[in-house]
Amino acid sequence: MSSNEFKISVLAGDGIGPEVMLEALRVLDSASNKYNFKLRLDHQLVGGIAIDQKSHPLPEETLNSCETSDAILFGSVGGPKWETLPPDEQPERGALLPLRKHFGLFANLRPSVCFPSLTGASPIRTDIIEGGFDVLCVRELTGGIYFGEPKSINQTTDGRIAIDTMIYNESEIDRIARVAFNAARGRSKKLTSIDKANVLRNGILWREIVENVSKDFPDVELDHLYVDNAAMQLIRRPKEFDVLLAPNLFGDILSDEMAMIAGSLGMLASASLGQSKGNGLYFGMYEPSGGSAPDIAGKGIANPCAQILSASLMLRYSLGLTDAADSIDNAVRSAIDKGYRTGDIFSSDADTKQVNTVEMSDAIIDNII
Ligand code: NAD
Repeated sequence: MSSNEFKISVLAGDGIGPEVMLEALRVLDSASNKYNFKLRLDHQLVGGIAIDQKSHPLPEETLNSCETSDAILFGSVGGPKWETLPPDEQPERGALLPLRKHFGLFANLRPSVCFPSLTGASPIRTDIIEGGFDVLCVRELTGGIYFGEPKSINQTTDGRIAIDTMIYNESEIDRIARVAFNAARGRSKKLTSIDKANVLRNGILWREIVENVSKDFPDVELDHLYVDNAAMQLIRRPKEFDVLLAPNLFGDILSDEMAMIAGSLGMLASASLGQSKGNGLYFGMYEPSGGSAPDIAGKGIANPCAQILSASLMLRYSLGLTDAADSIDNAVRSAIDKGYRTGDIFSSDADTKQVNTVEMSDAIIDNII
């Protein structure tokens, strides 16, 4: 393959996944013509459709394809049809978590962007978010209390006890901190690290290692917030934050809070990154923050922006195609500024036009320059 040619595993999945994936691929095609790169797309089954056709949510062919790819572009998986299966055989548990584990995707990046013209979709008071905001949540994804052992529910003479263990070692904190500092370097150079150092030993180590890493990034301004305070400050003054760095549990909660503050799930992309390839690029899996939205699947009305912005993150973090990624991000913003809205972000009082999935993508493609 030439240096501007890349192999991408495309796992569209279930529900609205295939609908919005189709649109993201159209946008990528337009960007590739303008920015002179080539994507070799390898479409593979994942999730419920893979259970139906291959009897497994993550078939071997799918995993093999991902192993030989530069990145994974993922749609969404799951739906009512598969909800009665045993938990480990369900689409999310049986495909998404094993993919993260198999590729060591330890860093979850969720940009929470509230476009100036979409502030009305946010539940936060307009005077607080006037002009919009752009916060990047960097969440540690493979460690901490979600995975620490021991983890059990045991019967005792006093009734049952439940145990979860929060464990972080120095290298886990160091590597996620470096992802966050590097990301901050490419943005407004401001990083807020979240912990609970006033109560948890984990927080003390977290803060110490983040401080150490910061010495390699003197151009990035670092501050620390306890997680409870962070939850309040994000609502009080979201515009003042740039990059948030958080352990798994706190990042899970705060990134959902930020998604809510931003307004619509249909606008929010995410990246899960593995070890850096040493050139500032990562192997990664890119997907919308929302799920398969069974309530609107098949109706052609889903918002394709989250999938399109996920594709842009892929160009930025795995392929190093920054100009093309910027162009897609700007095109989404222009389409929104021009008033194009899918149902989830439409409000009849503004100067806007309600469009379907394909029309929204057309408007974005028209704005790729
Ligand atoms: P969901 O995110 O699918 O939907 C929540 C609400 O947001 C729905 O009203 C939906 O219509 C809306 N929504 C989400 N994305 C949208 C878009 N692009 N455009 C317009 N509206 C959008 O969450 P849920 O209903 O809790 O879960 C549905 C299914 O998705 C479940 O089976 C769940 O397990 C699965 N799920 C998958 C993933 C994933 O694949 N990463 C993540 C979350 C949930």
